[in-house]
Amino acid sequence: MNISFFGAAKCVTGSCYKISYDDVNFLVDCGMFQGSKSLRTNNYLDFYFDPASIDFVLLTHAHIDHTGLLPKLVKAGFKGPVYATEVTIDLLKAMLPDSARIQVYDVMLKNKRNERRGLPPVEPIYDESDAANALNLMRPVKLHVSFEPAKGCKATYYEAGHVLGSSFIKIELKNSSGEERSIIFSGDMGGENRPIIEDPDKFPTADFLVMESTYGNRTREEVDSDKRLADIAAIVNRTEERGGKVIIPAFALERTQDLIYDLIKLKKRKQISSIPVIVDSPLASEITRVFIKYPNHYDEEATEVLEGTGNIFDHSDISFTSSVDDSKALNERDRVIILSANGMCDAGRIKHHLIHNLWNPNNTVVFVGFQAEGTLGRLIIDGEETVRINGKEIKVNAEITQIDGYSGHADQTELFEQIETMPEKPGHIFVTHGESEASEEFAKLIEEKYQISASVPSMFESVNLLDIQTSVLKEHETPVLSDSHNLYARFMLELADYMRAEESEEKRYKKLESFLKKLEK
Ligand SMILES: [Zn+2]
Ligand SMILES: [Zn+2]
Repeated sequence: MNISFFGAAKCVTGSCYKISYDDVNFLVDCGMFQGSKSLRTNNYLDFYFDPASIDFVLLTHAHIDHTGLLPKLVKAGFKGPVYATEVTIDLLKAMLPDSARIQVYDVMLKNKRNERRGLPPVEPIYDESDAANALNLMRPVKLHVSFEPAKGCKATYYEAGHVLGSSFIKIELKNSSGEERSIIFSGDMGGENRPIIEDPDKFPTADFLVMESTYGNRTREEVDSDKRLADIAAIVNRTEERGGKVIIPAFALERTQDLIYDLIKLKKRKQISSIPVIVDSPLASEITRVFIKYPNHYDEEATEVLEGTGNIFDHSDISFTSSVDDSKALNERDRVIILSANGMCDAGRIKHHLIHNLWNPNNTVVFVGFQAEGTLGRLIIDGEETVRINGKEIKVNAEITQIDGYSGHADQTELFEQIETMPEKPGHIFVTHGESEASEEFAKLIEEKYQISASVPSMFESVNLLDIQTSVLKEHETPVLSDSHNLYARFMLELADYMRAEESEEKRYKKLESFLKKLEK
């Protein structure tokens, strides 16, 4: 009885775990790698296991870093059922085809470059027909109702409070020799008091826990909805006074809906003006429709708002762009709040809004979610003065700010609470879905605080659950989160700065000459 780690091991993306017992093999999540180019390279490699040998897949939630390689799995021969909550399946009907279009588009651009360089063309990881085939395999499951996807395997889904439809999963295994083990996969854990969705359930008892640790080394200020609303109102009001625009990079799923919901609340309370709010992401518009379809998944407060209004996202100041021309027209407007994806600024329309708005000190860019290392969002938050977007050099003059209250991930205190409230402590905790530092610190604290053994698995590590023994399936280096492509961008920016600052033509010439000589060596 083994668990093998094929993603989210010392990084936050590419979640994919394989469980094997007797002759049964299944996956929990099948996510895409996002962030630095080195990490994304993993998406193009063959699966280390045979996709046709996988009997079924259990999905924790709809985020692409947990589901984005399913169409690739299907393309490579997987034919079994994929279990997920009804809401997750509906969200994926929008998200997987969108992901396919991004793959196809990116490869088209890459092939244009390759052609100019005389390099052979590459194939997209998958296309819309593969996404449609993956969607055909989906089977809805209900929270708190156990089911048996294979003989000797019982799975139960619980509310994770991370995004609409998100879950953590308890799996109980019994092999043909009668040996039993249970294991909880946390998926991504939310916390309490987030807008719209319900608070997470508590973990039941299990022998093992596979625990996310995105914020394993960070405790945030206590989140309550009044503080969150006051923060966003203050940002909007001071930006409006300066005559600027508010740009909010937001994930299309959950973060965008949370913000629309809160902004409407502020407008009704007259705490912000009638400033227009534009949602500029076709995917976010589609996902908002899924939110409207499932009001039975709202928390108590959102349900109350719904009863008063009939639709928690409806307000005359809120609009959704449809065409690229609508999106471009936003460049000419001032006094506007733009919500656009993706949340880490490394793809999508948000890049073009940053190109047009980052340079202007009247504007504000508000970050509302986790920014992984190596992403444009992380560079901006870390205080870079100039960034490169689509090959263009852009000064960061706008006000840069961050609001914690929207984070979809539990912080360290909330993660500990989940462990503390377990009726019985698990025998071992695998700490995953975090950057190395966050995961290592969290694992160390678990051992100190609770005397529970904890480890941070590496990619391609496999552990025997009957007698904790680790083997390495394939040598793999720790994922490079910030790679030479990030360094290259920084080098180009600093060189450009130097060229502008150094007035002497002779010195500029000598400096460049010495660089070139070093490269030629
Ligand atoms: Zn997630
Ligand atoms: Zn995740």
